[in-house]
Amino acid sequence: MITDERIVTYLHSLEQPNSEFLQKMELYAKEHRVPIIRKEMESFLRVILTVKRPLRVLEVGTAIGYSGILMAEYLPEGGTLTTIENYEPRIAVAKENIEASGYTERITLLEGDAMEILPTLAETYDFVFMDAAKGQYLNFFPEILRLLSPGGILVSDNVLQEGELVESRFAVTRRDRTIHSRMREYLHMLKNHPQLLTSIVPIGDGITMSVKVSEN
Ligand code: SAH
Ligand code: MG
Repeated sequence: MITDERIVTYLHSLEQPNSEFLQKMELYAKEHRVPIIRKEMESFLRVILTVKRPLRVLEVGTAIGYSGILMAEYLPEGGTLTTIENYEPRIAVAKENIEASGYTERITLLEGDAMEILPTLAETYDFVFMDAAKGQYLNFFPEILRLLSPGGILVSDNVLQEGELVESRFAVTRRDRTIHSRMREYLHMLKNHPQLLTSIVPIGDGITMSVKVSEN
């Protein structure tokens, strides 16, 4: 946990309950140990989407479609969301959920490894939500930057890794160490990139929000 547990409990107590549909998905995710965005990220996404009103949204990491369906609700008229997932069992559940949500027109699910799919995408996106394998954010980044429209927004989730990002490297396993050092590299890159303006927001599991401020 990044922030004090009492603060998190308090912040969560201020949140409005989700629609029944999303609540059912939350329960499923809990039961089946599917990672989904935290409450802090839900509110963050709702607000940013409402401010930005993006016509084209890209999500990397669908899981069972929870964040995708939540975002679809906040798109402007004519807005669409493309989401990428490579884990077959989750793809099947995501498809069912998208169907049941009534957002089949709005949401397109692309099946496969984002590393292979991203280079095949041609049109730009106004908003990208990065929420796939945490060790791979850096690898996805060049394609994400290419796909971001001018003024486009990139939001990344889980960038502080439960706060472990700043723990001694001896306190974490070798796999986590690798993920953490790659994530630190990602944050450093986002904060120093000449085409981006980035804010790191230490709520939930750590969020970044970047704006593409120049084309080169
Ligand atoms: N955004 C979702 C949660 C995503 S969890 C939500 O909040 O509801 C991260 C997902 O990314 C996992 O389901 C995992 O299978 C997927 N993933 C990880 N690496 C990937 C890759 N290289 N290509 C596509 N999907 C990937
Ligand atoms: Mg996440």
